Parts: sequence; C-alpha cells; structure tokens
Amino acid sequence: MTPSSKVPRGPLLAAEHVLLIDQKQRGYLTTLASGQIFHTHAGMVAHDDVIGLAEGSQVLTSTGRRFLVVRPTLADVVLKMPRGAQVIYPKDLGAILLAADVGPGMRVLEAGVGSGALSMAMLRAGAQVLGYEIRADFARRARANVVEWVGEAPYDVVERDVYEGIEERDLDRVVLDLPEPWRVLPHAEKALRPGGILLAYLPTINQVSVLRAVMARSRFAMAETSELLRRTWHVEERSVRPDHRMVAHTGFLTTARLLAPPG
Ligand code: SAH
Repeated sequence: MTPSSKVPRGPLLAAEHVLLIDQKQRGYLTTLASGQIFHTHAGMVAHDDVIGLAEGSQVLTSTGRRFLVVRPTLADVVLKMPRGAQVIYPKDLGAILLAADVGPGMRVLEAGVGSGALSMAMLRAGAQVLGYEIRADFARRARANVVEWVGEAPYDVVERDVYEGIEERDLDRVVLDLPEPWRVLPHAEKALRPGGILLAYLPTINQVSVLRAVMARSRFAMAETSELLRRTWHVEERSVRPDHRMVAHTGFLTTARLLAPPG
C-alpha cells in the first residue's frame, strides 16, 4: 500500500500544513488552525485569513507586508521539520531513490532512521519501510514525523542495533545511513533477496574506502560510488550567475547488488 492521503488540492483548509514565504524568500512552516495567529518579524498573520485561500495566494500581515502561501513540498518539510539527527539533504534524497531504485511495494530496511527524512522520501515513492534505530528518542521522532508529514503509511521503526543482525528475509532493498555500514554487509547478504540493492550514504571517503574493500570480499557486486553537487543560480535580468554560496559537501552514495548464492 502506498501512503493513502489523497493529493492535497483546492482551497487551503484548517489542519493543513502551509509554507508562508516572505519577500526575502524565507519560508515559515505552520499548521492552519482557526483562531490562531502566526507571528513573524514582519507582523502577524491570522490563520483565518489564510484558510479558504487558493494555494499561491498572497496575504497581508498586520504591518502591511506581503506573504505568499503555498503547501510545502517534501524538500521544504525535510529542511524545516523538527529533527534530532542530521537529515539527508533533498538533493541526495532524490538521487538515493533512483540509485537504490526504490519503488511501489518494495520491502525496504532502513538503518539508522534519524529524523525520518529518508523514510518519508521512500514512503512517498511507494515503498514499505521498516527502520532499525538504536536511539529510542529518534525512533519516536521519526514515527511522529512520518505520521505528521506523510500520513497513513506502511512504516514502522524498531529500536535495534543493525550491526547485531537483520531479522527480516527477502528484502528488496537495504538502505544505510550510519557510520560503519560494512558491519551490516554480512547481515544484508542474508536479509536481501538475490538481485536486491544495498545503498550506503557516507560523509567521508575514508568510510567509503573501507566499505568498498569489505564489499569486494562479499557477495555484493556492481558497486558504484558517487556524489552530487548542486549549484543554484541567481537569476535577475542583468545578473545571471551562480549563487555565491553552495552546500559543497554532504555525503557519498554507494550502491551494490547482491549476487545469487554460488552453486
Ligand atoms: N537518514 C536519516 C538520518 C540518519 S542519522 C534522515 O534522513 O533523517 C544516523 C542515525 O543512525 C542516527 O539516528 C543514529 O542513532 C543511528 N544509528 C547509528 N548506529 C546505528 C546502528 N548500529 N543501528 C541502528 N541505528 C544506528
């Protein structure tokens, strides 16, 4: 089953999440509730002035400034939701979905889960996600984030150390965002079906070296490591150029596929 919440269209309703964007393109996430007031540096916005508007409308604050109102995208949510651990950036989330070929109905084991940003992206792609997370507080936060931002979904997080083993069998994908993914390879060899894909997200190339060396002696093949550089541009009529600042480094993606057992 894929997340069942229907596509949000039509006028903005109470209890919906919205993004208010100021004239400097800064976004503020809030949940609409009748009678509530949203306080910003540029004055107040009454939620009742927003409820019933079409997405993409403008509202005036109490001091006469304009805010644009839209429903947040998954990338907006990931960058602004409450988080404990570092989340994976949207540029990498998109790439991970294709690199690990995550699709509808696939059984995915994810470890560690952190704040659940990657969980949300995989659920949105239609996968069934089971998370292993050693920290109980993160496991709770991830579950709450998924309910809040994705809704009803085939998702659970158990408090477990994935280095100690994976109980599930016949998984389609194993997706790892933790410091020593090479310690998971022997478990993933048992838990994945042949042809299944393992993906590890790692911040340093030293970790990638260890992973690739251990992989070379495992039943995983077709290993590939990549990184993604995303440069945004400043576009004005008389000044079109790359932005001065960019997020120059996040993490490396390594994928490999499990071979059938010999014989
Ligand atoms: N990908 C997540 C962020 C993960 S941060 C996101 O997008 O939000 C790394 C997480 O791995 C942390 O929450 C940490 O507690 C967890 N972790 C570290 N070692 C682990 C292990 N051996 N088993 C399970 N979880 C682990």
